Amino acid sequence: MTYTVTLVPGDGIGPEVTSAARSVLEATGVKFNWEIAEAGAGAIEKYGTPLPESVIDSIRRNKIALKGPATTPIGTGFRSINVALRKVLDLYSCLRPCKTYPGVPSFYRDVDIVVVRENTEDLYAGIEYERGTPEAEQLLKFVSDTRGKVRADSGISLKIISEFGTKRIVKFAFDYARENHRKKVTAVHKANIMKFSDGLFLSVAREVARGYPDIEFTDVIIDNLCMQLVRNPQQFDMLVLPNLYGDIISDLCAGLVGGLGVAPGANIGQDIAVFEPTHGSAPKYAGQNRVNPIATMLSGMLMLRHLKEIEAANRLEKAIAAVISEGKNVTYDMKSDKSGGVGTSQVADAVIEKLQGN
Ligand code: NAD
Repeated sequence: MTYTVTLVPGDGIGPEVTSAARSVLEATGVKFNWEIAEAGAGAIEKYGTPLPESVIDSIRRNKIALKGPATTPIGTGFRSINVALRKVLDLYSCLRPCKTYPGVPSFYRDVDIVVVRENTEDLYAGIEYERGTPEAEQLLKFVSDTRGKVRADSGISLKIISEFGTKRIVKFAFDYARENHRKKVTAVHKANIMKFSDGLFLSVAREVARGYPDIEFTDVIIDNLCMQLVRNPQQFDMLVLPNLYGDIISDLCAGLVGGLGVAPGANIGQDIAVFEPTHGSAPKYAGQNRVNPIATMLSGMLMLRHLKEIEAANRLEKAIAAVISEGKNVTYDMKSDKSGGVGTSQVADAVIEKLQGN
């Protein structure tokens, strides 16, 4: 079988890291037909927008994409291409597996946490009222009248958490746990203080958990989680979080396992999935064959799992892990003194060599 996948190289270092990921994916023997879709800085000159409709159409048609990072252009009215893609394709789950591979420079060993972040609600929904506007004044008056005095010179961002949004993200986490043989899901919240938003998140999570008696369910308050992650991250298996906590904690967990160069990710909706590294387009390194392609390769490995190409995914992960543990063909960021290291394409060559059993 040949899979048709939308490939969005992005800009900055995007084309280099996606090209490396593409070559190792092809070396697994799985057949791909790549449909190249141009988004990011390069697309602005050609199409007048960083996210042409043709990119969205291609992803909708193929239902699967591998994406490189893209620079968020300043002054085009775009908050970010990624936010726009998540919104328009309703990619409601952000999946970030964070695992320490032996040889990665990190203070921690044996961390293996899957972070599942809700992508569409919470303070990130973009429902905001600017200080001094008639809408803000009206809302502040309503709040003052019903809940007691609030300062008139306030700006407001609304924290919206729904039963619908919570149910589907927690269900996503449990289904992922079942399919990937994970044992425990921990819901993260601050329900003791935000009773009607985080409180709803927690009570819906508990309700969903009852449908999965084979998987342990626990919950933890966000501030306690931060302390526990720093002291003993090995106690966690999967975390499911509302949008804002998820944003922060997924970066914290990426830090625990060696940083941006090795942190893969995916944004997944009902029937569409976009796989991409956590890091951005690092424009200062563009075109230098210098940055780490491993985060994008691991995102490709997640894509193989999503396509149920489990054996190929396992082989690719093993080959990447072997290159990391040897420590010879890795980029500068994997070196303890952050200097030296091989180029982006040499890492790909080394992974391909491992895949071919050399
Ligand atoms: P960044 O992740 O691009 O880079 C920050 C620093 O991290 C780099 O200077 C570099 O030192 C290091 N780094 C990042 N990726 C690396 C890699 N693969 N190997 C080695 N080192 C790496 O973050 P930024 O500078 O804040 O953002 C640059 C642009 O990327 C912005 O326009 C931002 O909006 C965009 N961005 C895009 C995405 C995405 O497309 N998914 C995600 C984050 C940021």
